[in-house]
Amino acid sequence: MTSTLPAASDQAETDRGPDEFDAVILGAGVAGLYQLHQLRAQGLRVRVIDQATDVGGTWFWNRYPGARFDSEAYIYQYLFDEDLYKDWSWSEKFPGQPEIERWMHYVADRLDLRRDIQFGTAITSAHFDEDRDRWTIRTDRGDTLDAQFFISCAGMLSAPLADMFPGQGDFRGQLFHTSRWPASGVDLAGKRVGVIGVGATGIQVIQTIADQVAHLTVFARTPQYVLPMKSPQYGPAEQAAYKARFEELRATLPHTFTGFEYDFEHVWADCSPERRRELLEEIYQDGSLKLWLAGFGEMFFDQAVSDEISEFVREKMRARLRDQRLIDILVPTDYGFGTHRVPLERGYLEVYHRDNVELVGVRDNPIARIVPEGIELADGTVHELDIIVMATGFDAGTGSLTRIDVRGRDGRRLAQDWGNDIRSMMGLQVYGYPNLLTTAIPLAPSAALCNMATCLQQQTEWITDAIAAVRARGASTIEPTAAGEQAWVDHHEEVVSTNLISKTSGWYLGTNVPGKPRRVLSYTGGVGTYRQKCADEAAADYPGFLIK
Ligand code: NAP
Repeated sequence: MTSTLPAASDQAETDRGPDEFDAVILGAGVAGLYQLHQLRAQGLRVRVIDQATDVGGTWFWNRYPGARFDSEAYIYQYLFDEDLYKDWSWSEKFPGQPEIERWMHYVADRLDLRRDIQFGTAITSAHFDEDRDRWTIRTDRGDTLDAQFFISCAGMLSAPLADMFPGQGDFRGQLFHTSRWPASGVDLAGKRVGVIGVGATGIQVIQTIADQVAHLTVFARTPQYVLPMKSPQYGPAEQAAYKARFEELRATLPHTFTGFEYDFEHVWADCSPERRRELLEEIYQDGSLKLWLAGFGEMFFDQAVSDEISEFVREKMRARLRDQRLIDILVPTDYGFGTHRVPLERGYLEVYHRDNVELVGVRDNPIARIVPEGIELADGTVHELDIIVMATGFDAGTGSLTRIDVRGRDGRRLAQDWGNDIRSMMGLQVYGYPNLLTTAIPLAPSAALCNMATCLQQQTEWITDAIAAVRARGASTIEPTAAGEQAWVDHHEEVVSTNLISKTSGWYLGTNVPGKPRRVLSYTGGVGTYRQKCADEAAADYPGFLIK
């Protein structure tokens, strides 16, 4: 439960300068909006800063063709207000970005949030002033804000890997990273388009634009296991049905392993081979992430189980592909199903049978550079293009803060600290950075294995309570102790050490960013367990933190 302090901030508003705040929040997405709402209820003076020109966070930025949910819409929701939940109706199970963005506008309007949000502004630096126990925050617009608490709601996947290849600036055509897609759209008709990347984003783009472009060239390095999505339309009857489950969902979601409504339901060891097959088929047919997040938990720990389930998915993929070359490039063989983020797709594999689509495997013949005409591979082949779409991913978990000049106590720099070792206390704070409170950073559950809306609500509620605790005792700062943070890092590592995710690569481990220290970024002990541990920490009066 979120506690609120009825009294307004001790200092009367008139005593303060125009840019003095109790809290500055970075980001007006799912977490930032709710964080603002909660802190306002505590009587705090809050300012949200966002580089975007409107609310939405990830749903503002990721407006590339085909962007959509793969959490069910009725669980990717705020659950703190029944009317807010019930007064919005989703048109399908996995809606597209425009509908999601409209929903975020609905939330912002309904809670009257915009008046405390400064859009079109990037935070460039945040320095903790030890003499005053306050943060000095500067922006690219020349603002200087002074705040007791600096709260990052920047999102796990918000720092795009957009500048990756030599020669990018020389390209004669248009080049876009998917998370910076122009709101005005891009005219793809009649164009030769190249897509780099076949992660969850690339897959959505590719399956959506294949029939809009003259020619599509896909540059694929590491293929993903994919599951077909079924997204039934929702009319009044379906909407009434999921709304009637509000109380049930509110009671369930925070406590499951992944923050989805479903949980691991079956035990591999208890089933005969026939029964396993039957269950895999049945779950596969659901057309959701269930096969990943609610099938057999042993898949993450037992290599033999992982091998069998991976082969089941590979079989399904191979059956949809017509020739061996496509199978060789598109069907994963060197890691297990579910150890990378599993994308849902609609007709993605079949796209490669189209006459206007060309698949280029770049594992053995990598992209060397961008040239004025297009993309050049290591062997000198040039693919001529009018438009390049970089679905090349993100500097996950850390990039949103390391790209800002964040300095804590004793001149510590976060980019330097995380450049050496990625650590945090429950993903909620970092040792050495008092009153920096964080959501969606490493060592908490995140987009890997978490319905983000569930996790972000829990984290912002914990932060709200922690701020209330600091204020209630007349203290000025909260910071993890070195021992508290170390204990969490040890726990995180112990939990993940037996998980096959730890043996793979990709953004889950930061290996997609050259030089980034390797660590499984997401907490893998389960959303429900994590929640309980956070609640226990608060209930025990924050033994892993120093409040002074
Ligand atoms: P990603 O999973 O990191 O994929 C990036 C892709 O770019 C990979 O295929 C990668 O290949 C490729 N790439 C990077 N550098 C390359 C190079 N030099 N040459 C060739 N290929 C290169 O990023 P993402 O697809 O944007 O997805 C990130 C996460 O966002 C997802 O895992 C998911 O959590 C979230 N997401 C969610 C949804 C949704 O439905 N809700 C949709 C999209 C994304 P390698 O793997 O070989 O490096």
